[in-house]
Amino acid sequence: ERERLAGFAARPAATTDGFRVEIAANIGTPAEAEGLLAKGAEAVGLYRTEFLFMGSPSMPGEQLQFEAYKTVAESMEGKPVVIRTLDIGGDKELPYLELPKEMNPFLGYRAIRLCLDRQELLRTQLRAVLRASAYGNLKIMFPMISGLGEWRQAKAIYTEVRTQLEAEGAPMAEKVELGIMVEIPSAAVMAHSFAKEVDFFSIGTNDLVQYTVAVDRMNEKVSYLYDYFHPAVIRLIKNVIDAANAHGKWAGMCGSMAGDRLAAPLLLGLGLHEWSMSPGSIHKVKETVSGCSHTDCVELAEQVLELETPEEIRGALTAFLDARQ
Ligand code: PEP
Ligand code: MG
Repeated sequence: ERERLAGFAARPAATTDGFRVEIAANIGTPAEAEGLLAKGAEAVGLYRTEFLFMGSPSMPGEQLQFEAYKTVAESMEGKPVVIRTLDIGGDKELPYLELPKEMNPFLGYRAIRLCLDRQELLRTQLRAVLRASAYGNLKIMFPMISGLGEWRQAKAIYTEVRTQLEAEGAPMAEKVELGIMVEIPSAAVMAHSFAKEVDFFSIGTNDLVQYTVAVDRMNEKVSYLYDYFHPAVIRLIKNVIDAANAHGKWAGMCGSMAGDRLAAPLLLGLGLHEWSMSPGSIHKVKETVSGCSHTDCVELAEQVLELETPEEIRGALTAFLDARQ
């Protein structure tokens, strides 16, 4: 069985009728990028850089960050690597930042909010990523974007940092794509506006579910409500993918839904381009994708959008996969 699945890993992922998707991996450290290509990953769809910061006793400097990003770029041998800028706050602490205690950390001072306030953090990180961009195919993604203002501010800082590095004569990739995580419902609703300006989206279902259904993702007492098959979540996901398609941009997903084979036919039907997951899920998802026809999946997605509860949606998806085993 393992060998059979490994066979799928080596091949690109496409449906029986030739709809091609990119299967990528989520990583937290440069070491995790090693051997990813052999595991069948075609890209890194999410590099959670906060682990570099959390694993350090003080703020990692530009050179240390540069080395880390360069290592990942080189391990992937020119394949895309999406580097997410610092996503700290919420459940993730950095002692040396001395962040204030908050009543609602998940609704508070975290990720891009913190980085736009303490811009030296973001500027240093962007300098490191841009310098590393000379060694591979790096893309930059901003987490926890809630509205266009934050995105525009982040992009303006990027442009300033780039101009400065150019003046210093630093080698860099000519084009570095800039995208946003869609993990706050307000951003998902506004996707058509964002799609005119960003190069790509990556849907973070882990937080998107938390904020859409108002369920703390860490609280087991209410975890029965935490479900990416909630029809409201599916509608938001559809809106994001539709917006990307309407503007010739690409839409990915890096939340755990992307690694769930039950979700795969639905995501295929909605037209998701890039799927980023923990490396252990790659084989199964590739196998599932190659067993489906895109035409059937589009029809399935249309049916699912008529359903009104997570249970009905799970039922329809289970029946769809069972009919294809
Ligand atoms: C997400 O929110 O779906 C995501 C991928 O980011 P994280 O799990 O790191 O918050
Ligand atoms: Mg998140």
